[in-house]
Amino acid sequence: MPSLPSHARVVIIGGGIVGCSVAYHLAKRGCSDVLLLERRRLTCGTTWHAAGLVGQLRATQNLTRLAQYTTQLYEGLERETGQATGFRQVGSIAVAASEARFEELRRGASMARCFGLEVQILSPGEARERWPLLSTQGLVGAVYLPKDGQTNPVDTTQALARGARSGGVRIVEDVAVTAIRSARGRISGVATTHGEVRADAVVNCAGMWAREVGAWAGVSVPLHAAEHFYIVTQPIPGLPASLPILRDADACSYFKEDTGKLLVGWFEPQAKPWGEAGIPENFAFDQLPADLGHIEPMFAQAMHRVPALESAGVQVFFNGPESFTPDDRYLLGEAPELHGMYVAAGFNSIGIQSAGGAGKVLADWIVDGHPPFDLWDVDIRRCAPFQRNRRYLRERTVETLGLLYAMHWPFRQAESARGVRKSVLHDRLAAAGACFGEVAGYERANWFAAAGTAARYEYSYGRQNWFAASAAEHQAVRERVGLFDQSSFAKFVLKGSDVAAVLGRICANDVDVPVGRVVYTQWLNERGGIEADLTVTREAEDAYLVVTSGATQTRDFSWLCRSIPAGAHALALDVSSAYAVLGLMGPRSRDLLATLTDTDLSTAAFPFATSRIIDLGYARVRASRITYVGELGYELYIPTEFAQSVYDAIVAAGHPFGLRLAGYHAIDSLRMEKAYRHWGHDISDEDTPLEAGLGFAIAWDKPGGFVGREALERQRETGLRRRLVAIALERTDRLLFHNEPIWRNGALVGRISSGMFGHTVGTSLGLGYLSNDAAPVSGEWIAAGRYEVEVAAERVAARVSLEPFYDPARKRVTQ
Ligand SMILES: Cc1cc2nc3c(=O)[nH]c(=O)nc-3n(C[C@H](O)[C@H](O)[C@H](O)COP(=O)(O)OP(=O)(O)OC[C@H]3O[C@@H](n4cnc5c(N)ncnc54)[C@H](O)[C@@H]3O)c2cc1C
Repeated sequence: MPSLPSHARVVIIGGGIVGCSVAYHLAKRGCSDVLLLERRRLTCGTTWHAAGLVGQLRATQNLTRLAQYTTQLYEGLERETGQATGFRQVGSIAVAASEARFEELRRGASMARCFGLEVQILSPGEARERWPLLSTQGLVGAVYLPKDGQTNPVDTTQALARGARSGGVRIVEDVAVTAIRSARGRISGVATTHGEVRADAVVNCAGMWAREVGAWAGVSVPLHAAEHFYIVTQPIPGLPASLPILRDADACSYFKEDTGKLLVGWFEPQAKPWGEAGIPENFAFDQLPADLGHIEPMFAQAMHRVPALESAGVQVFFNGPESFTPDDRYLLGEAPELHGMYVAAGFNSIGIQSAGGAGKVLADWIVDGHPPFDLWDVDIRRCAPFQRNRRYLRERTVETLGLLYAMHWPFRQAESARGVRKSVLHDRLAAAGACFGEVAGYERANWFAAAGTAARYEYSYGRQNWFAASAAEHQAVRERVGLFDQSSFAKFVLKGSDVAAVLGRICANDVDVPVGRVVYTQWLNERGGIEADLTVTREAEDAYLVVTSGATQTRDFSWLCRSIPAGAHALALDVSSAYAVLGLMGPRSRDLLATLTDTDLSTAAFPFATSRIIDLGYARVRASRITYVGELGYELYIPTEFAQSVYDAIVAAGHPFGLRLAGYHAIDSLRMEKAYRHWGHDISDEDTPLEAGLGFAIAWDKPGGFVGREALERQRETGLRRRLVAIALERTDRLLFHNEPIWRNGALVGRISSGMFGHTVGTSLGLGYLSNDAAPVSGEWIAAGRYEVEVAAERVAARVSLEPFYDPARKRVTQ
């Protein structure tokens, strides 16, 4: 009978590769009072049967950094621990069977270069030289990453465990955690099959069990298992052991050499969710029944690409479960629901290649109390509470597995489990031709199809079918007036006699303003990084309304609640569902609104950045003069049940003013021309307001200071080594999305953080940071450069500016 300590600083639940990596890295950080509990044997869940592919290129720079680190770690792990890992740096080749796929691969190659990865673009013939069994029929090109590799997942996990043990970690097998203990919103320990263990932090690394384990503590861990299939052939004579990994995403297939045989796996478009009623308690080193009918179509495609499969004979048909998340990104970090409860789960078939990096940054997070850099893409705080709903997860999982190898089209929308969260105006917008996109389950009108055309995306890397419709919406806002449904905004009310002082510490800007003022501000961490970007409206002496984006609802509310000091008289409430929001934006918005209200809307009576309750139609609504599109305009906060009548009144009155319904793609184009930053893309917790050009929103000398001020003061003294700039392509036929490399005088200096076509400026626009390690990034240094942006491996000349390309003097906003 294993005996457990009564207390450990950190308890890790689960001994798969992820749990062992977290343990290893905690030990490396000097945190050795760690207990890892595994219900059966190490690797017995999903890890033991992984194919062992270790790629490095991910969708963003920081995730690529993590995957790159994993490769470096595995490369040296055997030397360090004495435990063989089977890691081999054989490289990988991704082939393209269409021009669009080749563009995707070339864009990926540009990105890889930008992130410091070695990458080569190959012709089909060159790909075949490196992969002799490849049929080049129908191939357009390929990309080769020489530093990618493969590893033995079981041995690598054992090596991590050995490294952790020698750093002082206790790993105990055959002990299951059965409950999470907490008190006053903080973790206090776990119950196990062998007694209680108190703990300061608990890490849920329970793989496909993690959703249930989280639920014990009221923590949402939205993941669902799906069946994942591969086969292993009989030995193929002459198969080189040095064969790179081969990926043919158009055939949904990957191929790897495996002791003289080929392992061939698939990411099929219609997956089979598994374990909906819960993962069986006794599941260990198990596999699921083979389903030959299910894999047959992909098998045929794989044989087309590698004809040797036709005669190779199959030794193993394998089917094993793996966890998938609603957006195909893993779940990492401290859970917003419970202090000290961390999660590392939902690895979407890349847990082996992610484990090294994920374990390292989670260990840093636990020891330092914050992530080491921007991890928003995988941060568990991006999830909405509803996303642990089982039916939602099961239906979404049918699609997410296949999306790994589907075309990663810009603006691509999920097709499964849609229509979950709808604005009360949804049906009206749908009737008006809206094509919806989804953010955390919320359906939002992205664009409106012209009468007689289908409100459906036709994807490409060029101008998609909605380009002209969205351009017309953009133009209406610039020249007349547009109406946006922005009900997905998150809205919080902060009430109490201490709210001005409490919010004053959190906000970098001065929010101790007269009632009726709206303040644009950032919330910073102690390092000066931007945790949130939002507006704060003073509703009363003792009440504020905080408005932020729907995508950051959970994160920002958690930050707000955790920032209220114990004993302060301040209560935060999430009132997002209580209000619909309409954005009435454009030079004629005031005239239109004036037909529906008695309120004096003149600039003298109702200036920019003020807010008041007005009569509108039959309702009373909060109107705030604020904009994210760079025009005169009003955000209208309408109690939900009044929203339809207010919307109808505005639309009925709109015709003489040229009112047009507009969607989020138009917002993106409009805000890009104004260089308005978007949190999550252009600004994050690793960027400071000074670097981001948001110094105008810092109230340096306000009484009581604010969180992050000292860090900003230090940065102000030392000067900035990176700065956000606006970028415009000199050619109008190429589109910017994100991560395209930026070159200055032939040297790589940054990448696009977000991009969109600017219809008034008339070209593709982007934002991006320019870095210079040698000296501060001054206005002169920026102006002296000759710039190019690399789009799909081709460099396009560009203009760069610290000012927005549209209305830099802000005349249109304040008129
Ligand atoms: C067929 C297949 C092929 C794959 N190929 C690749 C690949 O090539 N490359 C790649 O990067 N990834 C691959 N993956 C994905 C990879 O295997 C997983 O992402 C990874 O193994 C997940 O590791 P984990 O530690 O999160 O989960 P697991 O390995 O499942 O570990 C979780 C552990 O938690 C334990 N546990 C659960 N509940 C409790 C409890 N209450 N108390 C104590 N312990 C508990 C379980 O017993 C289990 O051992 C593949 C997956 C499959 C299915």
